[in-house]
Amino acid sequence: RASVGPKYLSGLNPEQREAVETLDGPVLVLAGAGTGKTRVLTTRIAHILSQGRARPAEILSVTFTNKAAREMKHRLGQMLGHAVEGMPWLGTFHSIGGRILRVHAELAQLKSNFTVLDVDDQVRLLKQLLQADNIDDKRWPARMLAGLIDGWKNRGLMPSQVPSGEAAMFANGKGGKLYASYQERLKILNAADFGDLLLENIRIFREHPDILRQYQQRFKYILVDEYQDTNVAQYLWLRLLSQAPSATKAVVPGRVEDANYDAQLRVGQSRDESSALDSGSAPSAHPGMTEQAAIAAAPNAPTKNICCVGDDDQSIYGWRGAEVDNILRFDHDFPGAKVIRLERNYRSTGHILAAASHLIAHNEGRLGKTLRTEDQDGEKVTVTGSWDSEEEARGIGEEIEQIQRRGEKLNEIAILVRASYQMREFEDRFVTLGLPYRVIGGPRFYERAEIRDALAYLRVINSPADDLAFERIVNVPKRGLGDATVQMLHDHARKRRIPLFEAARAVVETDELKPKARGSLREVVAQFDRWRAQREVTAHTDLAQIVLDESGYTEMWQKDRSADAAGRLENLKELVRSMEEFENLQGFLEHISLVMDRDSGADEDAVSLMTLHSAKGLEFDNVFLPGWEEGLFPSQRTLDEQGRAGLEEERRLGHVGLTRARRRAMIYFATNRRIHGTWSTTIPSRFLDELPAANVEITESKGGSAWGGTGGYGASRFDDMEAFGSTYSTPGWQRAQANRNRGGGRTGGGGGGFEEQASSFSSSSSSGPDFGSF
Ligand code: ATP
Ligand code: MG
Repeated sequence: RASVGPKYLSGLNPEQREAVETLDGPVLVLAGAGTGKTRVLTTRIAHILSQGRARPAEILSVTFTNKAAREMKHRLGQMLGHAVEGMPWLGTFHSIGGRILRVHAELAQLKSNFTVLDVDDQVRLLKQLLQADNIDDKRWPARMLAGLIDGWKNRGLMPSQVPSGEAAMFANGKGGKLYASYQERLKILNAADFGDLLLENIRIFREHPDILRQYQQRFKYILVDEYQDTNVAQYLWLRLLSQAPSATKAVVPGRVEDANYDAQLRVGQSRDESSALDSGSAPSAHPGMTEQAAIAAAPNAPTKNICCVGDDDQSIYGWRGAEVDNILRFDHDFPGAKVIRLERNYRSTGHILAAASHLIAHNEGRLGKTLRTEDQDGEKVTVTGSWDSEEEARGIGEEIEQIQRRGEKLNEIAILVRASYQMREFEDRFVTLGLPYRVIGGPRFYERAEIRDALAYLRVINSPADDLAFERIVNVPKRGLGDATVQMLHDHARKRRIPLFEAARAVVETDELKPKARGSLREVVAQFDRWRAQREVTAHTDLAQIVLDESGYTEMWQKDRSADAAGRLENLKELVRSMEEFENLQGFLEHISLVMDRDSGADEDAVSLMTLHSAKGLEFDNVFLPGWEEGLFPSQRTLDEQGRAGLEEERRLGHVGLTRARRRAMIYFATNRRIHGTWSTTIPSRFLDELPAANVEITESKGGSAWGGTGGYGASRFDDMEAFGSTYSTPGWQRAQANRNRGGGRTGGGGGGFEEQASSFSSSSSSGPDFGSF
């Protein structure tokens, strides 16, 4: 009996098959990386369709990215043997929420053609509101408020529901009020931000039970991938839609009375094993939800056919409001849920899986699970030390060329970085080597807004006729040179057939502009003249730094206390640093135009470059994991801000990274890295110590130069880690000989600094070779 049935079922193991065939009632697939969770979801849709249980338009299925949605649809076509027409409700939470909101826009005081604001628009709008309220934008930056509002929306909180304690975190209690006026302004502008796409859905569903019922009836099956990374708003939305239609009562959103909301949230983050494991335990309130009452109106309401899949060890969006508790308490929230475990990993070889499992075993807050593979052990995970990040990029570049020479596809190669600024070095290397690459989940380094701004300044210095560049930065940072001024410059330039910059020079000598604008513009012209003169006598890297500082551009981001401002400043430093590799400004800008010109079509065979965060759910034969150094990975910022919980989230990120690899996982660390523009000597990541020695091989950098030959591999492979100067205090590393003499230090920052820094970490967790459940 097991072997008969549709073809798409035949390859599944019994647990997977159960997850596919249990169509009625709530199902949770809680299982590790590469066990086929996403495949189960896709097959389940195929099964629902081919059994005639529902039409495509009656299936709500949520993926984490738009790309994943496209991929799922493609696979579905393969399984069913024909393209699937019309799966309108297959997409991300945002895209589906937006789709629903357009239908009922008038209930959110919007028109159906409302615009969706991006972060920049959001911030601009908030700035206006701060001004109107006489709040000092320097003390209380609009970006910070934007972050708070997003956080509230992620937790499903309307303005009236923001706990007063939290509203007080901004401008002495004005946070809540500003949130309210922001929402009002959005309506006037016929706009919604990302958070609204779900939040307004939730409100409409609650206030209009008839509409909710309509969707509850429509969605016969609900499927959710990556459930461990859903936030409270997404959870509430799913809960509402997944209740059986009759159980829904009208619920008016209540005020949040509980000032201890935050405390509750914290408590909730300690993981409660019992909730996901024995469905017999007493239901408890969802910790992330004070508005419990709203949902609890029908605590034991029959739930429909919802199937969520996820892995608590891959929860990596806590910083963005994701609540891993959603997955841990699934069987409380969806009574009668069937919890299915998958233990066989189909993706990775034995060594890779062992390394990943061993690493994650160092986390305390986890359910714990067994993962096994029937695959070969394969190649060991390699750990390679390099002198610096440049050598690291060179080494990886060579390794990739070698893989390519073996006839493997570039599509099967990924580089996963912790911080986006790390990408720059690889992008440059790839351009030099002529290796096609694509950046996934974000713009390529030189396409980032702050980089384009900085480049625009440099382009105007290099070529005063570069109108596009001039227009881009004439009012960045804000100098009171708005659209009207620019328009006038254009008119001038056109009439006299001169570049905008020259038009500006001419216009400031007339009285066509108001005195203030004229003053600003005159200053801009004078600055560029000065920089151009300096260019003759100053190194181009210094000049770039001067330009960024004197123009006020650096300051603009320094004043900006938002989360992404720090990253942008890092990127700017990285830009200046990247210029060192070129002889002069001209050479650098030529290189940039080459980088920018490459378009990497979706079909092209290309190396993928992305952050660890965007690698979720993906898989590649070859995965490079550079930058495993303390401070970078685990990220010092995360450790500072979130302590132990932050460390565990970083470790999960490492686990996600390793488990992306099918055949080869290659970890790198550099002994010297420039962070925030200054060289520092780094310590290898503590996560390296947490890898099981038996599954890891220490290798030499192919881009190598600085080291000369290293000695042969000793009895303990970790001996060779010592080659990179670590005195990292764990058994594995300690065994190494202390005094190997390594030549070729470039910055002379070698050993001494290490010991000092190393002593401030006392890594204690490593238990030496130990193979866990393997
Ligand atoms: P992640 O947690 O990383 O998202 P996942 O659990 O979603 O992983 P999938 O991406 O669905 O795992 O599957 C991992 C790989 O294993 C895919 O290449 C998939 O096609 C393959 N796979 C899954 N189940 C089977 C099976 N029964 N037989 C053969 N291959 C399988
Ligand atoms: Mg998956």
